[in-house]
Formats: sequence, C-alpha cells, structure tokens
Amino acid sequence: MWIYLNDAFVQRDKAVVSVFDHGFLYGDGVYETLRAYSGRIFMLSQHLARLQRSGNLIGLDIPIPEKDWPALLNEAIRRNGLTDAYLRITVSRGEGAIGLDPSLCRRPTVVIMAMPFQPYPSNLFREGVKLTLAHVRRNLATALSPQIKSLNFLNNILAKQEALQVGAFDALMLNVEGHLTECTTSNLFFVRTGRLCTPSVACGILDGITREVVLLLAREQGIPAEEGVYEVEALRQAEECFLTNTSMEIMPACQINDLPVGAGRPGSLTTRLQDHFRSNLARFLG
Ligand code: PLP
Repeated sequence: MWIYLNDAFVQRDKAVVSVFDHGFLYGDGVYETLRAYSGRIFMLSQHLARLQRSGNLIGLDIPIPEKDWPALLNEAIRRNGLTDAYLRITVSRGEGAIGLDPSLCRRPTVVIMAMPFQPYPSNLFREGVKLTLAHVRRNLATALSPQIKSLNFLNNILAKQEALQVGAFDALMLNVEGHLTECTTSNLFFVRTGRLCTPSVACGILDGITREVVLLLAREQGIPAEEGVYEVEALRQAEECFLTNTSMEIMPACQINDLPVGAGRPGSLTTRLQDHFRSNLARFLG
C-alpha cells in the first residue's frame, strides 16, 4: 500500500510518524475522510474546504495549497490500483518537544491513505440499524466545537463504546441541554408527520457534507425539510429515521434503545431519498 507522508509516496512500512508528533501526544490535528466512486471523489471541494476550516479553527496551517490536493488524492487512488476507495487525509501539528505550545512543532505532518472501499453489509440498508442513546454528551460547542474535525475524537469513541456494549450499531448523542445532536460519525435525520427533520448546526454537530446533499435533494424533491432543536421525544413520534455520512450515504435506523422507530423498518421517504441520492450521485463527484 502506498501512503503519502509529508512530501512523498512511501510504502506502508515506511509510513511512520514520530512518537513526538503532537497528533499522537495530544490529538492536535485535523482530518477528513472521503469516498471515491470509480475514481471520482464525492464532494471533493467541500471536503477540502472543511479541512481548511478545521485547520483555521485550531490555528494550524494546512501546508498543501487547496489546488494541489486533487492531484495528490488522485495519485493515492491510482498508485494503489483503486477505483472505489476510502480516503483519509490527516494533518497533525507535527513533531515537537513535549508541551502544548504549537510553536514547538516545526512543520505539520501530512498523511493521505487510500484503501479499497468496504461497503456496509447490504442487510443493514434493507433492515435498518439499531441505535442506543449515549450517556456521554456531545462536546459542548463552546468547549471543543464539533465543527472542528479534529484528531481529538475521544468524545465520540466513548459514545461508540456504549453502543458496542449493548450490541447497537451506533450511539446517538445529546448535547448538554438534552437536545438531539448526531451519532459518532454521522448526522441524524428523522421524519415526523411527513417532514424531514435534522438537528441544526447550533445544537453542536459536525455540519456533514452528506447532510447538506440530503437537504438539497429533499428540497429538489419537494419534501418539506427543517433544521431545528429537538428533544428525544421527537424520535418517539418519528415515522422514520436515518443517518448520513460520506461512507454510508443514507443508512436507515429502525430502533433506538428498545423503541422501534415508526414501523421498525426503513420507511418510504428514506427509500425515496436513497434512490434519489444514487441517481443524482454523478452531480456530486469531482
Ligand atoms: N458527524 C460526525 C461526528 C462525523 O465524524 C461525520 C463524518 O465523519 C459526520 C457527522 C458526517 O459527515 P460527512 O457527511 O461529511 O461524512
């Protein structure tokens, strides 16, 4: 496997980062995960813009100019002989002496990994996944903003562990006020009285790129859609529920804790959006 590390493609065994890297020591860095379909990357410029934003929010200069990323990412796909690929960009603060001061690090560490895309089992899309309501709350936006896609992912890992402990696919997190936010690596949607609802960015979520596409597709389809502030109760009244992210696209959720959502299987609006997503996919590929 070829991995891009700093300024060259190297083989996996040479793709080694220092134990003094502040990404390793402190989770000081940012990342993006992307998906390529037949060699074409989904919403590429939006992912690159978000990488830049995450960097800006932690005062980290992304050392590769935005215009140079597409060629590097395509090269990572090509060198690894891939077409359908999962890509991860990681930019950490870099190697430096022990201490929190970012200026201890001379230059950021940049990594690009490209791996074969592993599809989720098709029965999950057919039957829908089970979620658990996490006890751990989503990071407070004024403490560590969920809009920073950072290497500091413990908040989500703690919630994911709760899901794994009860055999759920993922954990749904509330914010400190008890409002719905998102799952550990995906955004939440539900349908209530025929309206598509999703927690607003102000609730403390990552503004997912797939979420944006789904909202756009819903508008185009004339499906009423809103971003709002919701209590857990809203899900008890929901007819349908699904999750979105770059790898899953649209994943139906059919149960939260012991409570089935709607009829306990993927609903018609979810299926309609999945179909619409697929048939419009080419519009969103770089
Ligand atoms: N929310 C969180 C916490 C995530 O980590 C992700 C993706 O990794 C998402 C939402 C979905 O974002 P996107 O649709 O841009 O993949």
